[in-house]
Amino acid sequence: MIFTSEFINLVRENSEVNHNECNLFTYKPNYRNMKKIFCSIILLPAVAAFSVHAQQTQLTLKPVDPYRMTPGMVEIMDPEVEIIKPGATDRDPPSDAIVLFDGKDINTEWEDTRGNPSKWIVKDGTLISVKGSGFIQTKRKFSSIQLHIEWKTPSEVTGESQGRGNSGVFLQERYEVQVLDSYNNRTYRHGQAASIYKQFPPLVNASRGPGEWQTYDIIYTAPTFNKDSITYFTPPRVTVLHNGVLVQNNVSLSGPTDYTKIPQAFIKAHGPGSLQLQDHGNPVAFRNIWIREL
Ligand code: MG
Repeated sequence: MIFTSEFINLVRENSEVNHNECNLFTYKPNYRNMKKIFCSIILLPAVAAFSVHAQQTQLTLKPVDPYRMTPGMVEIMDPEVEIIKPGATDRDPPSDAIVLFDGKDINTEWEDTRGNPSKWIVKDGTLISVKGSGFIQTKRKFSSIQLHIEWKTPSEVTGESQGRGNSGVFLQERYEVQVLDSYNNRTYRHGQAASIYKQFPPLVNASRGPGEWQTYDIIYTAPTFNKDSITYFTPPRVTVLHNGVLVQNNVSLSGPTDYTKIPQAFIKAHGPGSLQLQDHGNPVAFRNIWIREL
Protein backbone atom coordinates (compact mmCIF):
# COMPACT_ATOMS: atom_id res chain seq x y z
CA MET A 1 0.00 0.00 0.00
CA ILE A 2 2.92 2.38 0.69
CA PHE A 3 4.31 1.85 -2.75
CA THR A 4 0.92 2.27 -4.28
CA SER A 5 0.30 5.68 -2.66
CA GLU A 6 3.79 6.84 -3.54
CA PHE A 7 3.23 5.71 -7.08
CA ILE A 8 -0.02 7.69 -7.30
CA ASN A 9 1.62 10.82 -5.86
CA LEU A 10 4.45 10.59 -8.34
CA VAL A 11 2.05 10.30 -11.23
CA ARG A 12 0.07 13.30 -10.00
CA GLU A 13 3.20 15.36 -9.43
CA ASN A 14 4.51 14.58 -12.86
CA SER A 15 1.21 15.17 -14.58
CA GLU A 16 0.79 18.60 -12.98
CA VAL A 17 4.01 19.99 -14.41
CA ASN A 18 3.55 23.11 -16.53
CA HIS A 19 0.01 22.45 -17.67
CA ASN A 20 -0.29 25.99 -18.98
CA GLU A 21 2.80 25.58 -21.05
CA CYS A 22 2.27 22.04 -21.99
CA ASN A 23 2.52 21.54 -25.66
CA LEU A 24 4.65 19.49 -27.92
CA PHE A 25 7.27 22.20 -28.11
CA THR A 26 7.56 23.43 -24.49
CA TYR A 27 6.83 20.28 -22.41
CA LYS A 28 9.89 19.05 -20.49
CA PRO A 29 9.31 15.75 -18.74
CA ASN A 30 10.61 15.36 -15.16
CA TYR A 31 13.10 12.57 -15.80
CA ARG A 32 13.87 12.11 -12.08
CA ASN A 33 10.24 11.42 -11.25
CA MET A 34 9.79 9.37 -14.35
CA LYS A 35 12.62 7.19 -13.11
CA LYS A 36 10.81 6.71 -9.80
CA ILE A 37 7.60 5.83 -11.61
CA PHE A 38 9.43 3.34 -13.76
CA CYS A 39 11.06 1.72 -10.74
CA SER A 40 7.76 1.59 -8.90
CA ILE A 41 6.09 -0.14 -11.81
CA ILE A 42 8.87 -2.70 -11.88
CA LEU A 43 9.10 -3.23 -8.09
CA LEU A 44 5.41 -3.15 -7.20
CA PRO A 45 4.63 -6.71 -8.37
CA ALA A 46 7.78 -8.00 -6.65
CA VAL A 47 6.83 -6.35 -3.35
CA ALA A 48 3.27 -7.62 -3.63
CA ALA A 49 4.52 -11.12 -4.33
CA PHE A 50 6.87 -10.97 -1.33
CA SER A 51 4.03 -9.75 0.91
CA VAL A 52 1.76 -12.58 -0.17
CA HIS A 53 4.59 -15.05 0.35
CA ALA A 54 5.21 -13.70 3.88
CA GLN A 55 1.53 -14.02 4.73
CA GLN A 56 1.45 -17.55 3.42
CA THR A 57 4.58 -18.35 5.43
CA GLN A 58 2.95 -17.09 8.63
CA LEU A 59 -0.22 -18.98 7.96
CA THR A 60 1.65 -22.21 7.43
CA LEU A 61 3.51 -22.04 10.82
CA LYS A 62 2.57 -25.07 12.82
CA PRO A 63 1.54 -24.72 16.49
CA VAL A 64 3.78 -26.27 19.13
CA ASP A 65 2.86 -29.88 19.65
CA PRO A 66 2.98 -30.52 23.44
CA TYR A 67 3.40 -34.22 22.78
CA ARG A 68 6.60 -33.65 20.82
CA MET A 69 8.45 -31.63 23.52
CA THR A 70 11.89 -33.01 24.31
CA PRO A 71 13.10 -33.30 27.93
CA GLY A 72 15.55 -30.42 27.42
CA MET A 73 12.70 -28.13 26.38
CA VAL A 74 10.85 -28.54 29.69
CA GLU A 75 13.66 -28.94 32.24
CA ILE A 76 14.92 -25.77 33.97
CA MET A 77 18.31 -26.08 35.66
CA ASP A 78 19.13 -22.55 36.83
CA PRO A 79 19.14 -20.90 39.22
CA GLU A 80 19.79 -23.91 41.43
CA VAL A 81 17.47 -24.21 44.45
CA GLU A 82 19.10 -23.00 47.66
CA ILE A 83 20.42 -25.81 49.83
CA ILE A 84 19.66 -25.79 53.56
CA LYS A 85 20.21 -28.38 56.28
CA PRO A 86 17.00 -29.77 57.74
CA GLY A 87 16.65 -30.44 61.45
CA ALA A 88 17.61 -33.81 62.93
CA THR A 89 13.87 -34.42 63.29
CA ASP A 90 10.91 -32.54 61.87
CA ARG A 91 10.50 -30.63 65.12
CA ASP A 92 14.08 -29.38 65.10
CA PRO A 93 14.88 -26.08 63.38
CA PRO A 94 16.40 -26.23 59.89
CA SER A 95 19.56 -24.25 59.22
CA ASP A 96 17.71 -21.21 57.82
CA ALA A 97 15.34 -20.86 60.80
CA ILE A 98 15.45 -18.20 63.50
CA VAL A 99 15.22 -19.84 66.93
CA LEU A 100 12.91 -17.67 69.03
CA PHE A 101 13.03 -19.80 72.17
CA ASP A 102 15.52 -22.56 72.88
CA GLY A 103 14.49 -23.32 76.46
CA LYS A 104 16.86 -20.83 78.05
CA ASP A 105 16.73 -17.16 77.33
CA ILE A 106 13.67 -15.05 76.45
CA ASN A 107 15.08 -11.54 76.74
CA THR A 108 17.10 -11.72 73.54
CA GLU A 109 14.13 -12.32 71.26
CA TRP A 110 11.07 -11.35 73.38
CA GLU A 111 9.64 -8.37 75.23
CA ASP A 112 6.26 -7.24 76.48
CA THR A 113 4.05 -5.13 74.23
CA ARG A 114 5.45 -1.92 75.73
CA GLY A 115 8.99 -2.87 74.87
CA ASN A 116 9.92 -3.83 78.44
CA PRO A 117 11.44 -7.15 79.59
CA SER A 118 8.84 -9.90 79.72
CA LYS A 119 7.45 -11.07 83.06
CA TRP A 120 6.75 -14.55 81.74
CA ILE A 121 8.90 -17.15 83.43
CA VAL A 122 11.33 -19.73 82.10
CA LYS A 123 11.16 -23.00 83.99
CA ASP A 124 12.50 -26.44 83.09
CA GLY A 125 13.22 -25.31 79.55
CA THR A 126 9.71 -23.98 78.99
CA LEU A 127 8.26 -20.50 78.71
CA ILE A 128 5.17 -20.05 80.88
CA SER A 129 2.62 -17.27 80.71
CA VAL A 130 1.98 -15.35 83.92
CA LYS A 131 -1.49 -14.12 84.70
CA GLY A 132 -1.76 -10.38 84.43
CA SER A 133 1.63 -9.90 82.78
CA GLY A 134 0.16 -9.30 79.35
CA PHE A 135 1.15 -10.53 75.91
CA ILE A 136 4.75 -11.08 74.97
CA GLN A 137 6.03 -10.37 71.47
CA THR A 138 9.12 -10.87 69.38
CA LYS A 139 11.47 -7.96 69.00
CA ARG A 140 11.81 -8.93 65.37
CA LYS A 141 8.98 -8.21 62.98
CA PHE A 142 7.85 -10.62 60.32
CA SER A 143 5.72 -10.81 57.20
CA SER A 144 5.05 -14.21 55.61
CA ILE A 145 6.42 -17.04 57.72
CA GLN A 146 6.60 -20.71 58.60
CA LEU A 147 6.31 -21.18 62.36
CA HIS A 148 6.87 -24.18 64.59
CA ILE A 149 5.72 -23.87 68.19
CA GLU A 150 4.98 -26.39 70.93
CA TRP A 151 2.54 -25.73 73.78
CA LYS A 152 1.03 -27.43 76.79
CA THR A 153 -2.02 -26.61 78.85
CA PRO A 154 -1.97 -27.34 82.62
CA SER A 155 -2.31 -30.99 83.57
CA GLU A 156 -4.50 -29.94 86.44
CA VAL A 157 -7.77 -29.06 84.78
CA THR A 158 -9.60 -26.02 86.08
CA GLY A 159 -12.26 -23.95 84.38
CA GLU A 160 -14.22 -24.72 81.27
CA SER A 161 -14.84 -23.50 77.75
CA GLN A 162 -12.63 -20.45 77.02
CA GLY A 163 -11.34 -20.40 80.59
CA ARG A 164 -9.36 -23.63 80.29
CA GLY A 165 -5.79 -23.48 79.05
CA ASN A 166 -6.39 -20.37 76.95
CA SER A 167 -3.56 -18.60 75.16
CA GLY A 168 -2.98 -17.77 71.52
CA VAL A 169 -0.45 -17.31 68.74
CA PHE A 170 -0.95 -13.90 67.16
CA LEU A 171 0.45 -13.49 63.65
CA GLN A 172 1.59 -9.95 62.84
CA GLU A 173 0.02 -8.87 66.15
CA ARG A 174 -3.50 -9.22 64.71
CA TYR A 175 -4.48 -12.71 63.64
CA GLU A 176 -4.93 -15.30 66.37
CA VAL A 177 -4.48 -19.04 66.07
CA GLN A 178 -6.25 -20.11 69.25
CA VAL A 179 -4.49 -22.09 71.95
CA LEU A 180 -6.93 -23.86 74.26
CA ASP A 181 -7.43 -27.09 76.14
CA SER A 182 -9.98 -28.54 73.73
CA TYR A 183 -9.77 -32.10 75.03
CA ASN A 184 -13.28 -32.91 76.23
CA ASN A 185 -13.93 -29.21 76.61
CA ARG A 186 -16.85 -27.92 74.58
CA THR A 187 -16.81 -24.30 73.47
CA TYR A 188 -17.90 -22.41 70.36
CA ARG A 189 -16.45 -24.18 67.34
CA HIS A 190 -14.49 -21.24 65.95
CA GLY A 191 -12.93 -20.57 69.35
CA GLN A 192 -11.50 -23.99 70.14
CA ALA A 193 -7.87 -25.03 69.78
CA ALA A 194 -6.41 -24.46 66.29
CA SER A 195 -9.28 -22.23 65.24
CA ILE A 196 -8.64 -18.89 63.58
CA TYR A 197 -10.38 -17.12 66.39
CA LYS A 198 -14.03 -16.35 65.62
CA GLN A 199 -13.46 -16.91 61.90
CA PHE A 200 -12.58 -20.53 61.10
CA PRO A 201 -13.04 -23.67 63.23
CA PRO A 202 -10.39 -26.35 62.70
CA LEU A 203 -11.26 -29.07 60.18
CA VAL A 204 -10.98 -31.63 62.98
CA ASN A 205 -10.25 -31.55 66.70
CA ALA A 206 -6.75 -33.09 66.92
CA SER A 207 -6.17 -32.11 70.54
CA ARG A 208 -4.08 -34.08 72.98
CA GLY A 209 -4.98 -34.19 76.62
CA PRO A 210 -4.15 -31.60 79.27
CA GLY A 211 -0.52 -31.67 80.33
CA GLU A 212 0.61 -33.21 77.02
CA TRP A 213 2.83 -31.34 74.61
CA GLN A 214 1.17 -30.33 71.35
CA THR A 215 2.54 -28.77 68.18
CA TYR A 216 1.45 -26.14 65.72
CA ASP A 217 3.12 -25.84 62.35
CA ILE A 218 1.79 -22.67 60.78
CA ILE A 219 2.27 -21.28 57.28
CA TYR A 220 1.20 -17.68 57.08
CA THR A 221 0.98 -15.41 54.05
CA ALA A 222 0.87 -11.73 54.95
CA PRO A 223 -1.83 -9.58 53.36
CA THR A 224 -1.49 -6.77 50.85
CA PHE A 225 -3.76 -3.75 50.84
CA ASN A 226 -5.72 -1.62 48.45
CA LYS A 227 -4.99 2.11 48.16
CA ASP A 228 -7.84 2.89 50.55
CA SER A 229 -5.79 1.18 53.32
CA ILE A 230 -8.93 -0.36 54.84
CA THR A 231 -9.50 -3.31 52.49
CA TYR A 232 -7.29 -6.20 51.48
CA PHE A 233 -5.95 -6.52 47.96
CA THR A 234 -4.94 -10.06 48.99
CA PRO A 235 -6.14 -11.23 52.41
CA PRO A 236 -3.94 -12.88 55.03
CA ARG A 237 -3.91 -16.65 54.57
CA VAL A 238 -3.19 -19.31 57.14
CA THR A 239 -2.46 -23.02 57.09
CA VAL A 240 -2.18 -24.90 60.39
CA LEU A 241 -1.09 -28.43 61.22
CA HIS A 242 -2.07 -29.39 64.76
CA ASN A 243 -0.04 -32.32 66.05
CA GLY A 244 0.81 -33.08 62.41
CA VAL A 245 -2.82 -32.97 61.26
CA LEU A 246 -3.98 -30.40 58.70
CA VAL A 247 -6.67 -28.35 60.41
CA GLN A 248 -6.59 -25.01 58.54
CA ASN A 249 -6.10 -25.30 54.81
CA ASN A 250 -4.88 -21.96 53.47
CA VAL A 251 -7.92 -20.07 54.74
CA SER A 252 -8.37 -16.39 53.83
CA LEU A 253 -9.06 -14.18 56.81
CA SER A 254 -11.77 -11.52 56.79
CA GLY A 255 -9.80 -9.13 58.97
CA PRO A 256 -8.16 -9.02 62.41
CA THR A 257 -9.47 -11.59 64.89
CA ASP A 258 -11.35 -10.16 67.84
CA TYR A 259 -13.78 -11.15 70.58
CA THR A 260 -16.74 -9.13 69.27
CA LYS A 261 -15.60 -6.83 66.46
CA ILE A 262 -16.64 -7.45 62.87
CA PRO A 263 -13.30 -8.28 61.20
CA GLN A 264 -13.95 -6.38 57.94
CA ALA A 265 -14.65 -3.17 59.83
CA PHE A 266 -11.24 -3.09 61.47
CA ILE A 267 -8.86 -3.74 58.62
CA LYS A 268 -6.06 -1.24 58.63
CA ALA A 269 -3.00 -1.42 56.38
CA HIS A 270 0.08 -2.67 58.17
CA GLY A 271 3.61 -3.78 57.46
CA PRO A 272 5.68 -6.48 59.16
CA GLY A 273 4.58 -7.29 62.70
CA SER A 274 5.71 -9.16 65.79
CA LEU A 275 4.71 -12.67 66.67
CA GLN A 276 2.77 -12.47 69.93
CA LEU A 277 1.79 -15.01 72.57
CA GLN A 278 -1.30 -14.32 74.61
CA ASP A 279 -1.69 -14.09 78.35
CA HIS A 280 -5.32 -15.10 78.92
CA GLY A 281 -4.95 -15.80 82.60
CA ASN A 282 -4.02 -19.48 82.31
CA PRO A 283 -0.47 -20.80 82.83
CA VAL A 284 0.15 -22.23 79.36
CA ALA A 285 3.69 -23.41 78.62
CA PHE A 286 5.62 -23.07 75.35
CA ARG A 287 8.86 -24.54 74.05
CA ASN A 288 10.88 -25.09 70.86
CA ILE A 289 9.75 -22.00 68.94
CA TRP A 290 11.36 -21.38 65.60
CA ILE A 291 10.41 -19.43 62.52
CA ARG A 292 11.38 -19.16 58.88
CA GLU A 293 10.79 -16.05 56.82
CA LEU A 294 9.15 -16.78 53.49
MG1 MG B 1 -6.75 -17.15 73.06
